Amino acid sequence: LLDALIDQVALAMERVRLAEDLEGARLAAETDRLRTALLSSVSHDLRTPLVTIIGAAGSLAEPGALPPEAQQALAETIREEGERLDRYVQNLLDMTRLGHGALKPAVQPSDLAELVGAARTRLAAVLRGHRLGTDLPPDLPAVLVDPVLTEQVLVNILDNAAKYAPPGSPITLAARLDAGRVVLSVADEGPGIPPADREKVFDMFYRVAGTDRRRAGTGLGLAICRGLLEAQGGTIRAEAARPDGQGTRILLTLPVAP
Ligand code: ADP
Repeated sequence: LLDALIDQVALAMERVRLAEDLEGARLAAETDRLRTALLSSVSHDLRTPLVTIIGAAGSLAEPGALPPEAQQALAETIREEGERLDRYVQNLLDMTRLGHGALKPAVQPSDLAELVGAARTRLAAVLRGHRLGTDLPPDLPAVLVDPVLTEQVLVNILDNAAKYAPPGSPITLAARLDAGRVVLSVADEGPGIPPADREKVFDMFYRVAGTDRRRAGTGLGLAICRGLLEAQGGTIRAEAARPDGQGTRILLTLPVAP
């Protein structure tokens, strides 16, 4: 009986070992896939703005070749693409910190209107092509968040709204108090996110199939937003902005300062 039992245990252990091997192999394959996706996406996304910047700087360097308005437009392009690079590198840094569990949010009572204002300033060039309306009640309580990280979240979400919604269309940012938390929403009049993708867009590198490939993107922004918010006790989700499924509304909940 003892021998049979030992055999049974040995068999079970062998099964566990095989399962662990399989799981290990699956994890290794997934890590490999993410590493390759990250490398190719990083090099592509760093190069695109850089190529534009180098081209614009080259044209500016030719003496007397361009009228002043054209020179100014090129200088503006260099600034916008530089800002895009800056946002991108910030996202990569946040992602690395999230991945290592090294992100330590420094939460403090913060004024949401100020955070929205700061994000708006950082995105001034991108938002110029849209009408951004804000509805922030003056009596909204302070939120208990890390202001730097939350500004980064707002920048990513407003950047998406401007990127995917048609030029000139309105973007609406609103906030309200609900069940002891501040709910902030950003709604646009773009194509919307299909119901089946509304959770997946928060996965790293996930982009909705058929997303306009001319819209530069990495599929990292929303994953980072979720990581940054959850690290400070917030949440984020996506829904349709309109009953017919058109438009995107991103909803954040933020803890309120005591
Ligand atoms: P990126 O915009 O760099 O691709 P994100 O993680 O920010 O990455 O978004 C993931 C995907 O979700 C996008 O590729 C796009 O398909 C979809 N998406 C995000 N925001 C919007 C929006 N406002 N309207 C339509 N689709 C959106």
